[in-house]
Amino acid sequence: MYDESREVYINIYDKKADKIVINELEELVKQLVAWSIPLNFHIEALKCQSIIMRTKLVRQMRAYGGCGVSQQKEADILMENFVGVIPLERYKEIWGRDYEDYVKKIEAAVMETKGSVLLFNNKPIDARAHLVCGGSTENSENVEGNVVQYLRKVLCNHCQNSPYSLNYKDIPIEEVENKLGVKLTNDEVLKDTTIDNIIDDVLRDEQNRVTKIKIGGKEFKGKEVMDILNINSTRFGWRPQIMRFFTIGKGDGLGLCQYGANNMACEGSSAEEILKYYYTGIEIKKIQNPCINMPLKGKLVVIDPAHGGEDSDDHVGSQGLREKDVNLSIALHLEKELQSLGAEVYLTRREDIVVHLNDRAQMANSIAPHFFISIHQNYFNHPSKSGTEIYYFRGDTVAKELAREIMTALTEEIETLDKGIKPADFFLLREVIVSSIHVEVAYISNFAEEKMLMDDSFRKRAAKSIAKGFVNFYRYI
Ligand SMILES: [Zn+2]
Ligand SMILES: [Zn+2]
Repeated sequence: MYDESREVYINIYDKKADKIVINELEELVKQLVAWSIPLNFHIEALKCQSIIMRTKLVRQMRAYGGCGVSQQKEADILMENFVGVIPLERYKEIWGRDYEDYVKKIEAAVMETKGSVLLFNNKPIDARAHLVCGGSTENSENVEGNVVQYLRKVLCNHCQNSPYSLNYKDIPIEEVENKLGVKLTNDEVLKDTTIDNIIDDVLRDEQNRVTKIKIGGKEFKGKEVMDILNINSTRFGWRPQIMRFFTIGKGDGLGLCQYGANNMACEGSSAEEILKYYYTGIEIKKIQNPCINMPLKGKLVVIDPAHGGEDSDDHVGSQGLREKDVNLSIALHLEKELQSLGAEVYLTRREDIVVHLNDRAQMANSIAPHFFISIHQNYFNHPSKSGTEIYYFRGDTVAKELAREIMTALTEEIETLDKGIKPADFFLLREVIVSSIHVEVAYISNFAEEKMLMDDSFRKRAAKSIAKGFVNFYRYI
């Protein structure tokens, strides 16, 4: 079953930096929708585009049997294929007054179709789309040479009123010749080229002067043409300089016609009906969460549930809650969360026992994880103090960066006050040789926060958001 609460991640290869960037699939879909369809279109048309863009990505993802990036076996897609795709915040200036509306619309379109892709024979399709088909879409073999069963010609009278229904472009003959590598004219000036229905019946005297000529069906004397058009001589020739190409539609006609989709939506069709109209014989289904798609795969983390055991020096709340118990509970939840994201996790203790600081440091150092994270609850003599604090070893910029991501994710989820990330040289931060952080989740000395910490679902949410901080740390767009 599709689990709405779990995110699917996509690995993007940044060739220049030789780095893999992990992004939430749905976030990338939002950026792609913003980039690929007019946003004043109907929400159902935007939903079609969301499903199309998601299908394009999923089709490439290794976790779903796609072939990914050939040079990088862990990457699904190449970053350089997304030139011009930018985070939604960056559209603020471009969209101006429409910004809020457009963002809301994109989010609705993407979230309402979350996980949905277009399938044919249970495989994601090559979801082609173009702006305006101009009357009918095209059979794949006429565009790309091969027959694709779901890319069939369908009639479309839905895009008739688009600004692209009839257009033209004037191109100088010289440019046409250069670009196509052909010769359309010769340099013989006085050649009597006739242009059907425009210039014919040319009569010249022995000196090559035009005596009679028919232009646009009307007969003129050469002298008349010279006078009327104010040219230098009756010894004249002509040659077209410009070719006007008329076009109907915009794009190659493969797959979905976006203007048509918008029109169908405005007339009451749903995204599903529209997609099934343009893609022959496809199904729309939600993707499964792939268990191999794990953003923290290959990462080692040691979690340290602080304190523990009989003569523990942990803090005790006014309602009797013990810090050592809360720490262990959050650590165990965090272990599960990190494991489900692919990380390999170790704990310095798994039960209520004494483990000396030296032993904790030694254990961490023998594992040499990517990160060491101590879990604590804060205490202050005055019960009014509340919020979250995170410490990192002085000068460790990597730990600081992780601390920042965890702080953001944590305070957003459990809604505690951000009391800041701070450098420190606590024993464990100093003695553990890898990047280490020390998280004070909340104040056990604060009545309300102690109460929240008593609730297991709260502790689970805290753990989940710390894990999210790890994922965000490893991605940068
Ligand atoms: Zn159309
Ligand atoms: Zn503590």
